[in-house]
Amino acid sequence: MNFNPLSEAKRIEKEIIAWRRDFHMNPELGYEEERTSKVVEEHLREWGYTIRRVGTGIIADIGKGEKTVALRADMDALPVQEESDVLYKSKIPGKMHACGHDAHTAMLLGAAKIIAEYREELNGRVRLIFQPAEEGGNGAVKMIEGGALEGVNAIFGFHVWMELPSGVIGIRDGPFLAGAGIFGGKIIGKGGHGASPHETVDPIPIMAEAIMAFQSIVSRNVPPIETGVVSVTSVHGGKAFNVIPGEVEFKGTFRFFKPEIGGLIQRRMREVLEGVTKAHGAKYELSIEELTPPTINSREMADFARKVAEKYGLKYGDVPPTMGAEDFAFYLQKVPGAFLALGIRNEEKGITYPHHHPKFDVDEEVLHLGTAMEVALAFEFLRG
Ligand SMILES: [Zn+2]
Ligand SMILES: [Zn+2]
Repeated sequence: MNFNPLSEAKRIEKEIIAWRRDFHMNPELGYEEERTSKVVEEHLREWGYTIRRVGTGIIADIGKGEKTVALRADMDALPVQEESDVLYKSKIPGKMHACGHDAHTAMLLGAAKIIAEYREELNGRVRLIFQPAEEGGNGAVKMIEGGALEGVNAIFGFHVWMELPSGVIGIRDGPFLAGAGIFGGKIIGKGGHGASPHETVDPIPIMAEAIMAFQSIVSRNVPPIETGVVSVTSVHGGKAFNVIPGEVEFKGTFRFFKPEIGGLIQRRMREVLEGVTKAHGAKYELSIEELTPPTINSREMADFARKVAEKYGLKYGDVPPTMGAEDFAFYLQKVPGAFLALGIRNEEKGITYPHHHPKFDVDEEVLHLGTAMEVALAFEFLRG
């Protein structure tokens, strides 16, 4: 490479920050990223990319050759009311970039600009994926269905990371983020007078028993060296103090790092509900949906990323796994790659609020580092 990605990214740092602030002020929820994708597309066209649209998502190609490396950013915001009084505060009530996807889009836009400037030096093709609806919408699946991974040899993506100090790139082998599923259902008993429980099948103690029994799934069924989560997060039943309701509804989420643990959790939930309701003469309904698989980095690609960071003097380190989920997992099921973290935590600036918090913010000073790493990954991968 006849240029240094880090100094090139530093050169356009102000532009990257300006893009981030523009996206931050104009947040759009999943699958509604009309404005954001329009801004992205206009820049990409100007820089000579070939564009394919997948709804509000964009697949953009540049360069030619046998090999293709993909870089991905997500563009969606969250239904959160921003509580900080920053200059670039969200202009849309009730919507906010509280996960940092504004930063991801801006960083990749910066990389797009640099890659286009040096396209003559590319030994293959770079594909940029700007996807919609990462937050619970599985926008990645729509992009894959739209052909985002056709011909792709490897994929990389970034998430800004509050648990890492500003400027450190977190690189992890194997499982990084958990698989996530949701469940919902009801206990169906028989309602009646609160003073005559013997004439009812009271679903409330049955629900309580089932919830307590769910606790034993992780503590007594999941092997101790593995991890999992079962959280009942909502329970609704009854209205009056003297009426035993006929039903109690519940919902919640489960998390896992290995598909077999996800399967085990689901099987045990059914068995618990089956047994507990049978013991009390009640019935149940249960629906379980696996939303996102675990995000599992390829060891080889994580190693490659470390070498690239090393070569260009970018600070990097390990990053602990989290039970949060990320739809980048779907890309990694199809092609090797790595999902990387970029530390944004800056105590001095008060940038410490967790992702999805109404005061979440990003240390903008490090955004160009993400851009530099993306550019370096693309060029180095195609060279190898
Ligand atoms: Zn998020
Ligand atoms: Zn996110």
